Amino acid sequence: MKKILIIYTGGTIGMQHDKKGSLVPFDFGKVNEQVPELNHLGCKLTHHAFSKLIDSSNVTPAFWVELAQTIEKNYSKFDGFVILHGTDTMSYSASALSFMLENLAKPVIFTGSQLPLGAIRTDAKRNLISAVEIAAGKVLVPEVCIYFSHRLFRGNRSEKFNSAMFEAFQSPNCPPLANVGVNVDYNHDIIAKPSKKKLIVHTKLETSIGLFRLFPGISDVWLKNILNMPSLKAIVMATYGSGNAPNDAAFIKTLSGAIKKGLIVINVSQCSGGSVTQGKYATSKHLEEMGVVDGADLNAEAALTKLMVLLGQYPNDAKKVKKLMTTSLCGEMS
Ligand code: ASP
Repeated sequence: MKKILIIYTGGTIGMQHDKKGSLVPFDFGKVNEQVPELNHLGCKLTHHAFSKLIDSSNVTPAFWVELAQTIEKNYSKFDGFVILHGTDTMSYSASALSFMLENLAKPVIFTGSQLPLGAIRTDAKRNLISAVEIAAGKVLVPEVCIYFSHRLFRGNRSEKFNSAMFEAFQSPNCPPLANVGVNVDYNHDIIAKPSKKKLIVHTKLETSIGLFRLFPGISDVWLKNILNMPSLKAIVMATYGSGNAPNDAAFIKTLSGAIKKGLIVINVSQCSGGSVTQGKYATSKHLEEMGVVDGADLNAEAALTKLMVLLGQYPNDAKKVKKLMTTSLCGEMS
């Protein structure tokens, strides 16, 4: 019988209305008392609740470290992990964990819900039941994933794209690892193989980094203020379409000046699907020439968290960080 650890961190799935009518986390207790169906999945479930339950808008890198260490501490005792987490930053957390847990050989599946577990039309039950079923299933998915509304996504490819529909997540640049209907249909061709090496947990994260979106009318003053922040090590720049940006003299001078001073700039697209291709248009050739790193089809969540982990590992080796940013480490880019 497989052993699964359910880690409860907070989020709508375990929230209730307070006196003022706002949703706040409540003490989840033993989740299989609330969802008795879990007792019939043929696996042994153990629960671990974080001491402070949070709305995932309060997620921090320190929270990811706690999560990664909880998995590390329990890694040999369990066959898989299901993490109950708020949906708002679930893609960031799943991306971060995918880079922090190197040589993964067991499933780590995030799930949550749009409606609390106690709500009549809740999506929490079926998300939780299917996530546990997959974590304990015969088909091994040794990846950090998100299970949501009938699809299993690679975590570092996913994004929350809808705040109102049950189908809240998508992964346009990578097909789902599994589709759940009457059967669970796995996409065997793209599911990673379990690592034979020992799990390495990276807990040093560089947080002096940033993320911004270009917008028509972006001023040089605005850009200078962002890029010249004293301790900033790296920034993810969400550009237009296939990686395009203004190519006027002021923009070029400010961005290339920051790069010359050592700032790492990663180009990802504001589009959810498709890829950055620096040099395709004249409006991205200058980025290539000044040393902006082409993020290809990395999404912003993956780019940001990958940078945090790599800069934590190689704080003084910008060349290595830039090279690894263009290399797929755990399926985050095509
Ligand atoms: N604000 C909530 C959270 O991310 C939303 C959710 O769980 O769906 O924690």
